[in-house]
Amino acid sequence: MSIKVFNTLSRNLEDFIPLDPNGKQVDIYCCGPTVYGYIHIGNIRTFVFSDLVRRYLEFSGYEVRHVMNITDVEDKIIRRVAETGKSLTEFTQVYEKAFLRDFKSMNCLSPHHMPRATEHIQSIIDLIGKLMHKGIAYQVQDGSIYFSIEKYRSKGGQYGRLIHLNFEEMRPGDRVSQDEYDKESAADFALWKARVPEDGEVYWPSPWGEGRPGWHIECSAMSMKILGRSFDLHLGGEDLVFPHHEDEIAQSEGADLGENDQPFVKYWMHGAHLQVEGRKMSKSLGNFHTLRDLFDQGFAGVEVRYLLTSSHYRETFNFTMDGLRGARSAMSRIKECLEKLREVAGETKSTPTEEVISRFTEAMDDDLNVSKAWGIVFDWIRSLNKQIADTGLNPTQAAAALASWDRINSVFGLPFDPSDEIPEEILKLAELRQEARQSREFETADKLRDQIQSKGWRVEDSPTGIKIKPFQIS
Ligand code: AMP
Ligand code: ZN
Repeated sequence: MSIKVFNTLSRNLEDFIPLDPNGKQVDIYCCGPTVYGYIHIGNIRTFVFSDLVRRYLEFSGYEVRHVMNITDVEDKIIRRVAETGKSLTEFTQVYEKAFLRDFKSMNCLSPHHMPRATEHIQSIIDLIGKLMHKGIAYQVQDGSIYFSIEKYRSKGGQYGRLIHLNFEEMRPGDRVSQDEYDKESAADFALWKARVPEDGEVYWPSPWGEGRPGWHIECSAMSMKILGRSFDLHLGGEDLVFPHHEDEIAQSEGADLGENDQPFVKYWMHGAHLQVEGRKMSKSLGNFHTLRDLFDQGFAGVEVRYLLTSSHYRETFNFTMDGLRGARSAMSRIKECLEKLREVAGETKSTPTEEVISRFTEAMDDDLNVSKAWGIVFDWIRSLNKQIADTGLNPTQAAAALASWDRINSVFGLPFDPSDEIPEEILKLAELRQEARQSREFETADKLRDQIQSKGWRVEDSPTGIKIKPFQIS
């Protein structure tokens, strides 16, 4: 059976068949972060979803080329650069580094390419040049360049395929007045924005004067530069379907309109949004969590990852603190079972058990049905626990179960090495507690233990040293 994915382009489940005639290589592009602040758990959901797609394609035997861009020039960034008085690079580097740390703590695999928009200005200019040459882009009085949807359509381009827009009904040829940016039509979008004083030092020379790229053209230029004119799969959050991805299609296919009728992208997958405690995430509601906020409360990246991988990517996900505590206890059930299996297996090695792998594969082939896949995993863990308790597994069976888990976990990506997961802050507190005990300041040591516990961890003293474990919620 092949993998089926829900293609936003057709609004249908489709068999996943790569463009590569050998059926081996798969090229994917995921819209990356806009680096002007710390990413929130909504963004993280989308990145974990992309990581899961990549890992599952690799699990299925494909060779994946994964590109994720860094949007490091864009309106919001420029506003913040002006407020802080820093240079563009000084400003974006801080958030790019923070993003990469967050990305790593979610155990997401590093993309093979992470292009920054500012390093691809020439490709962007070249692409705009092609659109100008085709007569589907135009310059307005202030020097900015716009994409003309009307001209694109008059030359045979189809606009609105992704959003399933009935163009005739929705946009009755709306001409707009001069004060609306000089555009010929309200639906047109900027490819190149002419330099204005508020841009400060953020500008580049171009054949059309100084300025900077529009956001949509950045992704078209970077994806095609690295993956070629047509590639397999484009991913992002559902908010990007329109206009961002729709405009990416128009620009990319528009640049060689009439010469190449291959689609820009074969499959489009979009992750649904995340809500917090049943509501839209917003700073004013106080439910806006960055990963750092959750670390401060003693949670580890992998616990957040587990929670985010537990629901289907096309369903709106309700993130709750109770859910996160539940993730912790679900993970400790897996951990305990693995520990028992390791004890039984000892040094014995084996290959994975066919049965559980094929049931897992069947669930995941169905448009990444993770809820079903986790159900299979937990049933299997229950039966392993029972077997261990009842009759005892022999070392080969235990080793086969461990090999099966490793194979399944190559998709879920949950590290179970405790030292990887304990937040820095908890390690520091545990160290201070240890020092307090050594100097016989037991009251301080107890206070520190309580503090650690309030953050969701507990310290155990053992003859071989201390052990730090997630605090068990009963
Ligand atoms: P941005 O940094 O705003 O460009 O967003 C990076 C990625 O996060 C994009 O793919 C967005 O679609 C996605 N995203 C933004 N907000 C949410 C949310 N609340 N839930 C899920 N994904 C989101
Ligand atoms: Zn993009």
